[in-house]
Amino acid sequence: MRIYKVGGAVRDRLLGKPVTDIDWVVVGATTEEMLAKGFRPVGADFPVFLHPKSGEEYALARTERKSGRGYGGFTFHANPEVTLEEDLIRRDLTINAMAEDDQQNLTDPYHGQRDLEARLLRHVSPAFAEDPLRVLRVARFAARYAALGFTVAPETLELMRQLSESGELEALTPERSWKEISRALMEDQPQVFVEVLRACGALKVLMPEVDALFGVPQPPAHHPEIDTGAHTLSVLQQAATHKQPLTVRWACLLHDLGKGLTPEEEWPRHIAHEFKGLKLIKAVNERFKVPRDCQELALLVGEYHTHGHRALELKPSTLLELLQSFDVYRRPQRFEEFIAACEMDARGRKGLESKNYPQADYLRGAATAARSVAVQPLLEKGFKGPELGEAIKRERLKALKAYKETAST
Ligand code: ATP
Ligand code: MG
Repeated sequence: MRIYKVGGAVRDRLLGKPVTDIDWVVVGATTEEMLAKGFRPVGADFPVFLHPKSGEEYALARTERKSGRGYGGFTFHANPEVTLEEDLIRRDLTINAMAEDDQQNLTDPYHGQRDLEARLLRHVSPAFAEDPLRVLRVARFAARYAALGFTVAPETLELMRQLSESGELEALTPERSWKEISRALMEDQPQVFVEVLRACGALKVLMPEVDALFGVPQPPAHHPEIDTGAHTLSVLQQAATHKQPLTVRWACLLHDLGKGLTPEEEWPRHIAHEFKGLKLIKAVNERFKVPRDCQELALLVGEYHTHGHRALELKPSTLLELLQSFDVYRRPQRFEEFIAACEMDARGRKGLESKNYPQADYLRGAATAARSVAVQPLLEKGFKGPELGEAIKRERLKALKAYKETAST
């Protein structure tokens, strides 16, 4: 049997990027031989094994044929006669379809090296269209390598457009889609992911609520960039620049969905968009079975981001309601993420990227003030049950009034 390094490890070494996980392909071997060498099978009917020591993935060279809708609809043929070239041709991009032996000899039948130099993400063969997940993968690679100057080859974008129009994207499972979406959001240029999906028509299928924001104007006084879609992309970009976690990035992407529902005659104003957007945010969350922490933050940021921006003008009672809604007493981290998302929203405006955001510290101070109310003295005064709750709220309100006064002097 012959063993080659394939995929990302080869690509990233040639790009001079750090290689994190290594995928291997094994030519000329049978399942029985792999098991005899101590490799552990990953799944039934799937010729992929884990190395007994390193835990890295070793796949038998295989060919694939599409046999139905979605990812389940694939038949694999792995046998010792399948060649390296035959295995490489089923891969998505030319830059991902190179192999290397232990002497670093490159096998590159589909000109991945040439495309690396040309900074092009190009599909290997028309079989690209057999797995709709590749649309998301290409958009993710575009986000990852945008800083190096990579773009999607026009003919690949065309295939992605055909896939998006074919209805195949709907056959993706929420789990597979979310895995790509969440990884793409964590790249350095996550806005490129959204741009590429939009350019090939996939955004309209996957997240029509986000797609609808493009072409929707906002008031130029607050939003010099005007377009809501452009604003959303900038907010996402700011979140990446500021190394925000996935929860914040997800909330940034969805925070203004309500603006897509504003009747044209109300443009460029968006009355109550925070509230109107909630059902859309919920729908996107559910579509991709998004993890709970991301779901929650997106909804809270959607509902309260304008409160965040107006923090210094809020009445103490409104400030208290905000803090109660976030349960800052038990969930301080979530409130920090809310503040971060608000700040990214403010910075995601043309020309205002480096403007101070004093609201952040003001909100932190308010949370500290409300949290400083001690329960023990109220218990000692004899408050119990609902009355205790009311007494705590009264004290917190007092604390916030005092805080607002000192903060404004
Ligand atoms: P990463 O750095 O994100 O791990 P990678 O290129 O190694 O990038 P993997 O998901 O680890 O990506 O897959 C390894 C290789 O398997 C890819 O380089 C590609 O050749 C192939 N591959 C993975 N998923 C697909 C797919 N859906 N369609 C075609 N080829 C794929
Ligand atoms: Mg990999």
